[in-house]
Amino acid sequence: MTSIYRSLNLILLGPPGSGKGTQARVLAERYDVPHVSTGDMLRDEVRRGTALGRQAKEMMDRGELVPDHVVAGIVLRRLDQEDATRGVILDGYPRNVEQAGVLDGILAELGRTLERVALISVPDGEIVRRLGARRSCTACGRVYNLELSPPSKPGACDGCGGPLELRDDDREPVVRERLRQYREKTTPLVEFYRARGLLVEVDGAQKMEAVAEAIVEAIGAPVAG
Ligand code: AMP
Repeated sequence: MTSIYRSLNLILLGPPGSGKGTQARVLAERYDVPHVSTGDMLRDEVRRGTALGRQAKEMMDRGELVPDHVVAGIVLRRLDQEDATRGVILDGYPRNVEQAGVLDGILAELGRTLERVALISVPDGEIVRRLGARRSCTACGRVYNLELSPPSKPGACDGCGGPLELRDDDREPVVRERLRQYREKTTPLVEFYRARGLLVEVDGAQKMEAVAEAIVEAIGAPVAG
């Protein structure tokens, strides 16, 4: 594929622990568009104790999806911001076919189009192992893996120095529920976007750098300069 992008609205699809967040950060820098993670935005609402955060917390703790209308509101607000006019890397949204329909509506209203959907595939066993080794900064949300990408100082974020923790929903029983939700609700999106000719698929079991290269190769390079 030889496409180059001046603007890019890209969805990263994949199970929890497939590396969507890490890849989204790399691609956001490469294509110079913001990384928009509904999980990060919801965790921020929970941290700040907002009404929305209080509403979402219980479902997040159980590994269930937060209601579509709640997430739609924060996505619309974020995509309507100035820095998102050239596109976004969407991580964790949409999560089901209804949300995909809502996203089409939001993009149409803002006069934008969805360029690509990249599916990052990783086997289940690998996911449970990866999420157990994942640590997240409680201050800025940056994610580490104790085996693959450890922080330089144990227990502290390289970026902001904040404390690193195992997220409650990265504990095994909740991971199993998140995987179940993914299989039941999110995997129908694979065929949904394939049928529209937007889907590219990459092997997420490779090294982080190789996954990023595979995505860039599959979707096309950004415009230079
Ligand atoms: P994530 O960081 O993407 O794994 O999301 C963590 C949790 O936030 C999920 O298990 C859900 O409870 C909630 N969440 C994140 N994104 C969505 C979404 N698009 N729709 C519903 N719930 C979401």
